[in-house]
Amino acid sequence: MTSDGGRARDEQSVFTSTTVADVLRLANRPAPVKGYFRCPAHADSGRKNAHVSRDGRAWYCHRCNARGGVAELVIAFGHARDRAGAARWLEARRAVR
Ligand SMILES: [Zn+2]
Repeated sequence: MTSDGGRARDEQSVFTSTTVADVLRLANRPAPVKGYFRCPAHADSGRKNAHVSRDGRAWYCHRCNARGGVAELVIAFGHARDRAGAARWLEARRAVR
């Protein structure tokens, strides 16, 4: 009944309505300070190397060059293995908010 295309659009709407700061909050991570937060992709010794993009929906690590959007951040934190899983993780947490 529901096509894969419809599912993909649902995922996309979850990602476009979620910011990097939202993911950090939902993952119980410290909020960005002046746009910087701790990179989930390398051992950072507490330094905030990852930077939130101007629109708040993408991030880039100046130390290890990891980057991505909201989905990649959820995956980097280990809460999902792929975009579909990241969408489910976000939907579950946004539903209880
Ligand atoms: Zn990094």
